[in-house]
Amino acid sequence: MRHSSVSSSKGCKLATTATPDMFSLFRATCDAAPDAPFLIGEDGAVLTYAGARARSAQLAHAFRNAGVQPGDRIAIQVEKSQTALLTWLAALQAGAVYLPLNTAYTIGEVRYFLGDASPALVLCRPADEPAMAALCAELGVPALLTLDADGSGGSLIEAAAGQPTAFDHARVQPDGLAAILYTSGTTGRSKGAMLSHANLASNALTLREYWRFTGDDRLLHALPIFHTHGLFVATNTTIAAGSAMIFLPKFDADALVRLMPQASVLMGVPTFYTRLLGHPGFTRELAEGVRLFVSGSAPLSAETHKEFNALTGQAILERYGMTETNMNTSNPYDGQRRPGSVGFPLPGVALRIADPDSAAALPQGEIGVIEVKGANVFGGYWQMPEKTREEFRADGFFITGDLGFIDADGYVHIVGRAKDLIIAGGFNIYPAEVEAALDEIPGIAESAVIGVAHPDMGEAVVAVVKVTDAGLDQTAVLAALTDRIARFKQPRAVVTVDELPRNAMGKVQKALLRETYGALFAKT
Ligand code: AMP
Repeated sequence: MRHSSVSSSKGCKLATTATPDMFSLFRATCDAAPDAPFLIGEDGAVLTYAGARARSAQLAHAFRNAGVQPGDRIAIQVEKSQTALLTWLAALQAGAVYLPLNTAYTIGEVRYFLGDASPALVLCRPADEPAMAALCAELGVPALLTLDADGSGGSLIEAAAGQPTAFDHARVQPDGLAAILYTSGTTGRSKGAMLSHANLASNALTLREYWRFTGDDRLLHALPIFHTHGLFVATNTTIAAGSAMIFLPKFDADALVRLMPQASVLMGVPTFYTRLLGHPGFTRELAEGVRLFVSGSAPLSAETHKEFNALTGQAILERYGMTETNMNTSNPYDGQRRPGSVGFPLPGVALRIADPDSAAALPQGEIGVIEVKGANVFGGYWQMPEKTREEFRADGFFITGDLGFIDADGYVHIVGRAKDLIIAGGFNIYPAEVEAALDEIPGIAESAVIGVAHPDMGEAVVAVVKVTDAGLDQTAVLAALTDRIARFKQPRAVVTVDELPRNAMGKVQKALLRETYGALFAKT
C-alpha cells in the first residue's frame, strides 16, 4: 500500500512512500514534532514524543542487557501505566516481538502462553514474581523483570535507570513480526495471531486518514493495553498522526466525565457508552468538544446508538475488527453512521460474504460468513500451520467466523459468531436479531441470546436479560416479543440477571452463559 505525504494540522509532514515499520512511524512523528504531547496523565503531566522516545530507548537498553535479541519474544503481564505502554515502543526499538497478556490470566493460564511462545524475557507485576520465577525456571525462560502498577518501580525501572536515551533501532523488514496477540480462545486453545509491522502500520495510516486524526487530537484512553483495541487501534493511530492520549489506568465513568472537556476523541467498547449514558454528569454540553466517539470490540446496540444521539446530538462511529485483522470496516466520518451496522470496508480491505460450507460468494442481503483480505490481515497463527490453513481460503481471504450481511447501501451488519448460531428445529436463528428485538422492550437494559440443548428441537433459544423494571418476567417479555419476531425465533426461556458476564473488552461471555444454563431443558 502506498501513502502520499500527509500534513497534520501542526504542519508536521509525515511522508511515507511505502508502509514503514512501526518504530519508523513513531520516529517520523518524533522528528516532525518532538515537543508535541504524546501521553497526558490524569494530573495533566505531559510526556512529549521526544520524552517518550528517550524513555523507551532506556527501556530498550534494559531489554537488550537482559539478553533480548531482535526476533525474540517479550511477554508482558503488567498493569496499565505510561511505562507499560512505553515497553511497546521499547520492544520495537529492540526489534523484539511484543506479546502482551491479559492481566486477568492466572499463572496456570500464563504457563500455556510462555510454553507456546518461548519468550526471551518476561515482564510481570512484582507480586507475581515468585510464581513467575518458578514458571520461568521450569520452562527455560532466561530473563524476568518486574514493573509496578504505576510504572515507577520494579526491576525494569532499576535496569533502565542511567541507560542511554538513544538506542540504535534494530532494522526490521515491514513484513517482519512485530507482535503476537493471543486470541481470547473461548473455544479450544488460544491461538497466537502473528502481526507484522506492515499489518499494524498500514492499518494505523488508514485509520488516521479515515477518522481524520491530526496533531491537535487528544484521545481519551481508558481501554486496556493488552488487547488490539487499546494497544494498536488507539495507540498506533495516535502515533501515526502525532496526536496525544489522555491516559487513564482503567475505565472509570467519573474520570471520563471529568476529563472529557480536554478530549477530542473517545474510543471505547459499548459498555463505556452505556455507562456514560447512565452517568448524571454526562450531558450534551460535555460531549460538545469531542469530535469523534468510536465504538468497537463488541456489538453496540442500536438502542444505545439512538439514546446517545438523542442526548448528545452526535452519532457514535461503530467499527469492526479483530485481533487477527486489525480494523476491517468503519462507519463513515461524513455521512450516515447507521445504528446496528459496522459500516463500510476500509480502504485497502476487500470484504465478502460467503457461504460457510461451499465458500461461494453470496448475493447482497444474504447472511453468510464475513471474509476479509488486505494489508491489515495477519500472516497466521504462531506455530499452528494447520489451523492457519483452515482459516484462510485458497485465494487469501481470511475466514473471520463472524456472520453478517451487506445491506442495499453497502453497510456491513454483523449478526453473530458462526459458533453462536442457533439451530432450533432446523431453523437458523441469529442471536443478534433476537437481542435487538429484546433491547427495544422498555425495561430491558441489555440482553444476550444463546442456544441451549433441547430434547425435541435440538437447540432452543434462551434469552438472558438485565431488566430495569422488576415486574418484567418471562411472561411479560414473551408477550412483548409476540409481534416483533417470528414465533420460531422467540425464546423458550427468559432468565433475568443483575449483570451480564462480560470480559475485559465488554464482550458478553456466551460460553459461560451456555455453561450456566446448558441444562435448562435437560430431561430429569
Ligand atoms: P477480538 O479479537 O478480541 O478483538 O474480537 C474480535 C471479535 O469481536 C470479532 O470477530 C467480532 O465477533 C467482535 N466484534 C468486534 N467489533 C465488533 C462490532 N463492532 N460489532 C460486533 N462484533 C464486533
